[in-house]
Amino acid sequence: MNKSSYLHMNKYISDSLFDIVSDIAYESGVRAYVIGGYVRDSILGRKNSKKDIDVVVTGSGITFAKKVAAAISPKIRVSIFKNFGTAMFAVQGKEIEFVGARKESYERGSRKPFVENGSLEDDQNRRDFTINAMAISLNRDDYGKLIDPFKGIKDLKEKIIRTPCDPLQTFSDDPLRMMRAIRFSSQLGFRIHRETYNSIKHNRDRISIVSFERISDEVNKILLSHSPSRGFIMLAETGLLDKILPELTNMKGIEIKDNKGHKDNFYHTLQVLDNVRQKSDNIWLLWSALLHDIAKPVTKKYIEGSGWTFHGHEYVGSKMVPSIFRRLKLPLNEKMRYVQKLVSLHLRPVTLSKETVTDSAVRRLLFEAGNDIDDLMILCEADITSKNEQKVRQYIQNFRLVRKKLEEIEEKDRIRNFQPPVDGNEIIRLFGLKPGKEVGFLKDSIKEAILDGIIPNEYEAARDYLIKKAAEIGLKPIK
Ligand code: ATP
Ligand code: MG
Repeated sequence: MNKSSYLHMNKYISDSLFDIVSDIAYESGVRAYVIGGYVRDSILGRKNSKKDIDVVVTGSGITFAKKVAAAISPKIRVSIFKNFGTAMFAVQGKEIEFVGARKESYERGSRKPFVENGSLEDDQNRRDFTINAMAISLNRDDYGKLIDPFKGIKDLKEKIIRTPCDPLQTFSDDPLRMMRAIRFSSQLGFRIHRETYNSIKHNRDRISIVSFERISDEVNKILLSHSPSRGFIMLAETGLLDKILPELTNMKGIEIKDNKGHKDNFYHTLQVLDNVRQKSDNIWLLWSALLHDIAKPVTKKYIEGSGWTFHGHEYVGSKMVPSIFRRLKLPLNEKMRYVQKLVSLHLRPVTLSKETVTDSAVRRLLFEAGNDIDDLMILCEADITSKNEQKVRQYIQNFRLVRKKLEEIEEKDRIRNFQPPVDGNEIIRLFGLKPGKEVGFLKDSIKEAILDGIIPNEYEAARDYLIKKAAEIGLKPIK
């Protein structure tokens, strides 16, 4: 390759950081290259994802990293991962990682390779996709040269995900790559090359040797991609989804009885997911969308005369969330409870919009959803996927009313972060009670009265109401 044919790559390594790496490589007598995601994303012009820089060197990545860090500033702290032979540090808002060029070989039962030192070429051979195997030289004699043995640049232009080596072997060696293929395809809007795709189907059972932490990382990236449905359709088609989230594939299909069918809940869910993604990048809201109808298959019933019902699927669904989160190694904390809450409430705004909207129903919804009411409304609106345009228009119109009502009531009654105006301690003091059932009963009566609109959400009114309620069970204020 003559110089002029690779010079244009220089613009991707114009950062002074690369000059330092280049100088150190020259002084140390090793070869250094920037490789992988950084090269791919630079050429694609994906600006925000250019923060991670991977540098491969012939020789020890750790020794090299220390030298580069020292040359930049003695203050830099280098993190060393001895087991992986890598080292990294953060500088100017970027994370730069160094690894020695290596050759890998795999054993069948593990995705952890046997590693030995190798050449740049060996290192490129172990990369997962052609578009991830491109390297740009940081060496003085050919600075800026693109080293692209697998024509990654062509695949990048043609938007193709393809493995550099035999895909059957590549996926069998490290089955996480199957998830990565689908994730990149979804994230970048690329298609997976036919042979590569068929090899995923062939190797789908191998996913069992990958930890759920790693699988979920990829699922999260699919959820956050532009149209997550793409990724999930591929996961389903290749058979991977059956191994990861069989509850989702269970939702596939339509059943017809007496000429009455129900919609395919799998595709419906994917449409809801895409709709939510247009409005939000909250990963837990996206999980809520993915799981909102998860209990439809287990609650499905055909009722003579009225058709298909999925009665209670929102409650059953919210109960299914913890076991799914546990299996997928997702957090079992307030994030999970948020997803449960959204799944369990996802029908409420629709129910509201169908009836004459009463203040008290709105107050109850506000109380239960709390600060997540806006997210819930995003989910509910996304859930309107009917093909009947008139129906959709009607729903959206009703929804506007619900939103308006929500705002009015919230302004008036401040229910979102509901704190009872008279709390348990005050009840105890007022009637000289011990903590117990009576206190709970009185507290609850106040809450209910406010939600039902019997009294306003104010101290005086709540106190008067409390005294009245207490009298009913024979209690009088002491003093
Ligand atoms: P992103 O950072 O957007 O997830 P990336 O391509 O940078 O994308 P990383 O996981 O950061 O992905 O990996 C950096 C590079 O390491 C990849 O570009 C690829 O060359 C290589 N790589 C990562 N994981 C694998 C794998 N499982 N098998 C083979 N090569 C891999
Ligand atoms: Mg990366």
